[in-house]
Amino acid sequence: MKTPTGPPLATSNERRPMRPLPLLVAATLTLSAGASRAATWPERPVTMIVPFAAGGPTDVVARIVGDHMSRTLGQQIVIENVAGAGGTTGITRGAQSAPDGYTIMMGHMGTHGAAPAVYPNLKYDPSKDFAPIGLAAGTPILIVARKNFPAKDLKEFVAQAKASGDKLNEAHAGVGSVSFTTCSLLNSILGTKPARVVYRGTGPALNDLVSGQVDYMCDQIVNLVPQIQAGTIRAYAVALPQRSPALPDVPTTTEGGLPEFQVSAWNAIFAPKGTPKEIVAKLSDALLKALDDEATKKRLLDLGADLTDKASRTPEGLQKLVEREVARWSKVLKNVGAAPN
Ligand code: ASP
Repeated sequence: MKTPTGPPLATSNERRPMRPLPLLVAATLTLSAGASRAATWPERPVTMIVPFAAGGPTDVVARIVGDHMSRTLGQQIVIENVAGAGGTTGITRGAQSAPDGYTIMMGHMGTHGAAPAVYPNLKYDPSKDFAPIGLAAGTPILIVARKNFPAKDLKEFVAQAKASGDKLNEAHAGVGSVSFTTCSLLNSILGTKPARVVYRGTGPALNDLVSGQVDYMCDQIVNLVPQIQAGTIRAYAVALPQRSPALPDVPTTTEGGLPEFQVSAWNAIFAPKGTPKEIVAKLSDALLKALDDEATKKRLLDLGADLTDKASRTPEGLQKLVEREVARWSKVLKNVGAAPN
């Protein structure tokens, strides 16, 4: 026969240990308060941190998707631009904010893919410190230059870049950003070392490209289509296997003689780790509805967004995408010498 192994039952005149019980009650109360807050969420506007300057690709995607999500949630999603350190300043702030559903983030291939490879002291782990919500948009990468850059096509651009030594100015949005990582790859393929000019986002970088202050950049398509169509900048190639339907006249890098340069980026929504699962489910539902809405889809597609990766639109799918991207960029950036070791 087994003898009972638990502690002896307390008799009425024994002193009971007082501490565990109130703690347990407190924990239960906190949990149920949390659960009821999740049930009534959102009761006030939700802040979406965009970790780059206003007007750039991350901001544009956040505003288009956030607009429709606000309608589903019945509360405004308010964009807060927190730029710096290639997007990692804003994402650090978001990761450390209260996991109550009132602060979410628009991250991307840089903040949640490349950053760990270039910031040894990064204060967050892209695959562990977030409650992923879902992929908002794939964003093909283009090589663009100021409109009077003396090269009529990609071949001439490559020749110019190689002949210019360190004289060209390349714009990017900070170490670890999409523009930085993708142009690091391009420069390494070409064997060039331009002066790299840092901006708080490719929104302001694009302004300087239009006014001719800088020579070229690698950027997400959603920032570029109107300027390319208006002829205020030059587009040499899209780094995809096929042309983008939004810019049918722009050749691919393969057509232009640079098949090695194939890369695309993405934007996705994250909440801080610990956000209640009911809130994650509501955010996910609102995102999926936005991406199924014809008018929202059209706005994104007109800007060249790629909406084909439906698997990464769910929290589980985005988690997998982040893990793949962190692994991919740690290799790529070491190979191109952009990572510190
Ligand atoms: N996506 C960034 C922005 O919105 C730029 C970048 O990562 O290159 O400005």
